[in-house]
Amino acid sequence: MIKEFRIRTTKSREVVDITNRVSECIKGVKEGICMVYVPHATAGLIINEFEPNIASDFVAFFEKLVPKAGWKHNVIDDNAEAHLKSGLVGPHALMPVSEGRLVLGTWQRIILCDFDGPRDRRVVVMVR
Ligand code: ZN
Repeated sequence: MIKEFRIRTTKSREVVDITNRVSECIKGVKEGICMVYVPHATAGLIINEFEPNIASDFVAFFEKLVPKAGWKHNVIDDNAEAHLKSGLVGPHALMPVSEGRLVLGTWQRIILCDFDGPRDRRVVVMVR
């Protein structure tokens, strides 16, 4: 099973909880491996806690980790740090599906990281 949905981000740097959207995609699947994937070079996915403070901490953390200036790619479209953050985080997240539900810990959510928004972001969900 493969499905896709879109998320419209509203800020230049944003993290969005997409867990409920992914859960909708796996309806009818009893058991399997769920891969969530973003086909983008300046976005990524993490699985972690999501509440307003840690959400803004993640944005600040990535800003501190990767400075904006000093990268060669900036001469092309001035977004090298967005690519580097995306490369660091990776474009996918994997989790089991059991008894028709995503197997996530109490505080775990699936989080889309947009490092170069606002944009329309595609999210692909595949279960095998
Ligand atoms: Zn670029």
